[in-house]
Amino acid sequence: MTLKPASTAQHADRLRGTPAGAIHEPIHSSVQYGFERVEDLIGVFQGTLKTPAYNYARQGTPTTAALESRITGMEAGLGTVCFATGMAAITATMLTLLRAGDHLLASRYVFGNTHSFFGTLADLGVAVSLVDSGSIDAVRAALRPNTRMVFVETIANPGTQVPDLAALGQLCRERGLVYVVDNTITSPALFRPRDVGAALVINSLTKTIAGHGAALGGAVTATDCFDWSTYPNIFASYRRLDPRQQALQQIRKKGLRDMGASLSSEQAHQISLGSETLALRVAQTSATALRLADWLLAHPAIGGVRYPMLPSHPQHAIARALFSAGSWLLSFELRDPGRLVAVLNRLQLPIKATGLGDNRSLIIPVAPTIFHEAGAEVRAAMAISDGLIRLSVGLEDAADLIDDFGQALG
Ligand SMILES: *Cc1c(COP(=O)(O)O)cnc(C)c1O
Repeated sequence: MTLKPASTAQHADRLRGTPAGAIHEPIHSSVQYGFERVEDLIGVFQGTLKTPAYNYARQGTPTTAALESRITGMEAGLGTVCFATGMAAITATMLTLLRAGDHLLASRYVFGNTHSFFGTLADLGVAVSLVDSGSIDAVRAALRPNTRMVFVETIANPGTQVPDLAALGQLCRERGLVYVVDNTITSPALFRPRDVGAALVINSLTKTIAGHGAALGGAVTATDCFDWSTYPNIFASYRRLDPRQQALQQIRKKGLRDMGASLSSEQAHQISLGSETLALRVAQTSATALRLADWLLAHPAIGGVRYPMLPSHPQHAIARALFSAGSWLLSFELRDPGRLVAVLNRLQLPIKATGLGDNRSLIIPVAPTIFHEAGAEVRAAMAISDGLIRLSVGLEDAADLIDDFGQALG
């Protein structure tokens, strides 16, 4: 039986099998895992054991493995590798699958630290082009003979741009390109990138999937959309595997094992607990965000609102067609940017903090904080105005949030 994400989230551990009928996979704190027979110790190193086995917690524990199968189920994937953070999942994916001389085609509208990491990749000899991923023609025009990978976010943070996700999937299929989709803002509860042909799906588990803001984590999920047997950058030792598993095994060994940004069992457990309410939380925060976006749009002090489910959003049609709701991310500008500090200081409910997808509403002026280091030129290219305000809508009552914005905007 293939389950929807909401059902997977409740039953993933139990259906996979837990000790003593436990409802949750327990928190396994062992670093070492021992064997009665040396043949089995040898087998775990050679990957020849029939049952799942563990040897050293940097490469995973039963608790992180349970979270991995939960994410795999929710994303309708083939397998998942979890990391200590979302950035670790992104950097391990790119560092293990790209080589000097390759070309990465990425959306111009991406998370600030992902954008910053592209600079490191470029220094290592991987050419990076940033394109307007909403235009399939712009993407096509930027392709090079050495292009290997296309990277986009479903809803870009902070500007809420939505790429032409299905057309990009088609293009990647035609050209044999690895299509990597960062699903952090939508989460599998609103959208499964596998449905548009993504080869690899990234989630920052810290955000939507955990929700509580009490744990960091990241995941990369491989789907059945890509045949890795002709992809050049696979080490010989992983060529022996089923072609669809080769990249994930390389990410697990060369990324997780060798680079070492491992998720702890404690954090994996916290994330699993949070994920149980994912579908409910995104339905609720999406409804509140849409109500608030409508309300802000009609307010005389507001200069503009960006939210994919508003008919005025440039990619509204794509968002409506692909996402079951608009998620919790919205951004807006004041008509008078000079009032920004005063308005934000008057707000009582949204916490003035960075971070996203938390159960509490979080609000931040974008240019002077998360995009300060990037500089004015990058901000202009990414359509980040000096007055842009990012709001991550939480689980507070929508009427209370509207009242609070009402008094703060005066
Ligand atoms: C936060 C975020 C990341 C990075 O996740 P961390 O868990 O904070 O490392 C990656 N992509 C997007 C879209 C994000 O919002």
